[in-house]
Amino acid sequence: MAFAEAIARRLKKKICMHCNVTNPILAVRCRKCHRKDLRLKAVEARGGTA
Ligand SMILES: [Zn+2]
Repeated sequence: MAFAEAIARRLKKKICMHCNVTNPILAVRCRKCHRKDLRLKAVEARGGTA
């Protein structure tokens, strides 16, 4: 199912807290600014959190 793969791929990202660049899930440091302050990309249900 490509659909499930697409969702999984979307969540397998880390976002830099400083420059907001997306990094691979395995990244330890930001690929742009090299800081370690990465967070997982928030899980977004369809339609947002409203
Ligand atoms: Zn960064």
